[in-house]
Amino acid sequence: MARVLLLIPSRTYRTHDFMEAAARLDVEVVVGSEHRSALAALMEGRQIRLDFHDVEGSTRRIVAFAQDHPLSAVVAVDDAGTVLAASAAEALGLAHNPVDAVEAARDKACMRQRFQAAGLLTPRFRSVDFDEDPIAVATTVRFPCVVKPLDLSGSQGVVKADDADDFPDVLARVRSIVAACQRDGVRPAVLVEDFIVGEEVAVEALLRSSEVDLLAIFDKPDLLNGPFFEETIYVTPSRLPSERQADIRDTTARAARALGLTDGPIHAELRLNDHGIWMLELAARSIGGLCSRTLRFGPGISLEELILRHAAGLPMPAHDREGGAAGVMMLPIPTHGRLKVVEGQPEAKQVAGIDGLVITIPPGEQLVPLPEGDRYLGFMFARADSPAAVELALRQAHAKLRILTDG
Ligand code: ADP
Repeated sequence: MARVLLLIPSRTYRTHDFMEAAARLDVEVVVGSEHRSALAALMEGRQIRLDFHDVEGSTRRIVAFAQDHPLSAVVAVDDAGTVLAASAAEALGLAHNPVDAVEAARDKACMRQRFQAAGLLTPRFRSVDFDEDPIAVATTVRFPCVVKPLDLSGSQGVVKADDADDFPDVLARVRSIVAACQRDGVRPAVLVEDFIVGEEVAVEALLRSSEVDLLAIFDKPDLLNGPFFEETIYVTPSRLPSERQADIRDTTARAARALGLTDGPIHAELRLNDHGIWMLELAARSIGGLCSRTLRFGPGISLEELILRHAAGLPMPAHDREGGAAGVMMLPIPTHGRLKVVEGQPEAKQVAGIDGLVITIPPGEQLVPLPEGDRYLGFMFARADSPAAVELALRQAHAKLRILTDG
């Protein structure tokens, strides 16, 4: 039986779906986690405590563990473990992404350099050190621009500045978000880049020995124009013409090559306008949150199952996406406050086409909207005959929800 080490950060939505996929595949799971979690407690004897930031030390621990318990794969279920997964797989001689490529995908400035060097259309950018004067920096920037952290995700800390007057406040805000997320007190740089106008798509794919196996292109029907970039609706299949979709696929493949990625899931964000297809970002992981539940392949195979099959070298069945359209809405957090209740859930679930609603923040917890926040309120799923019907179902169902807060 294949044995897979799953690297599970303390805050991820993905644990359940990966564990379920492993159970279906009859793969033995060992959990590598940063803290002793409820899950880790259940995994008696099949759990390793690892510091995902201490890549060298944790790689040594994994190698030592694998001497007695040989591993077929090391899989990071989310962003935080991707560098360690590549490093451990390299040390164990397993198929893996080069560590350097995964590191480049985790650093937005490095990613931009590689995209630019490969001749991809990507925003003009510069990094700004923590002690640089905002007014001086503003004279070097084209407006509107986007200010963002180098290594956060989920649009946390990503803010548009419209002009030089706006810029110092935006820069200060992003700097304080970055400082609040820093573990070691180092005050890192932020990225400032041109704001690219246009519609946006997301690409989900699996790299298999450097070949791109395209799994889905998602349209994002809500325009993301800032100042904050809250993701809402994703719908697949894309309504773009098929030649445009082929270009999106090719651009994504070039971007993965530019980073040096070879194996495992990738999730990319691209913008489209009259100049062409802009590469915004490519992460060496699968789609975040619970969004992967939108995707089903062949006879009901999940994205997590495909990822585990690939990583463990198990046979890969035919995996065209199921017929019909599917979509997800990441439920935005509209306001600050302590969550009391989300009303209207039964009514939302009754809207034709809705096939799932999960509120992921428990009552009593503090809601923090973007750009400071790092969570969505929950996820709502729809399936229907057409992308338009999926989008309509999600909008109608969302209109039924009422989020009640204290204060
Ligand atoms: P994260 O990794 O936190 O998701 P991204 O760099 O992907 O950060 O930015 C999040 C979102 O912000 C993007 O999906 C896009 O909508 C918007 N965005 C980021 N950079 C730009 C840009 N240069 N031009 C236009 N929109 C941008």
